[in-house]
Amino acid sequence: MKNLIDMPIGKLERILDSEVSLFIRKKYSDGESCRCYTCGMVMGIKEATCGHWISRRHRGTRWDVRFLRPQCSICQGRGGEQERFRERLVQEFGEELISEVENSKSNMALHSRVWLAEKIEYYRKIRMGD
Ligand SMILES: [Zn+2]
Repeated sequence: MKNLIDMPIGKLERILDSEVSLFIRKKYSDGESCRCYTCGMVMGIKEATCGHWISRRHRGTRWDVRFLRPQCSICQGRGGEQERFRERLVQEFGEELISEVENSKSNMALHSRVWLAEKIEYYRKIRMGD
């Protein structure tokens, strides 16, 4: 934990990205394969990517697992198929929450290094427990 806190924020963000990506791909899999959230294609966990409904430059939602799902590289290449992504999230969470998040995405505060380091630890523990 101490080592993590000493790292530059950009590095912490990248480590957390990869921990969360693995978490998402496993969470929505049967242990081996998962389905692309936006086109339904079945693929291996390792081929899947972690799709973000809201661009990663918005740090407030970048690691909010409610809005992250496995995606295939084709959908990722098409800008993440954001319209289809949004439609599906509305089915899950309702229009109210999705609109609210959309409207406030630019106002959300940046995360501190401590927050990032704690999240990394959290996902590492889950991963080690698998
Ligand atoms: Zn796809």
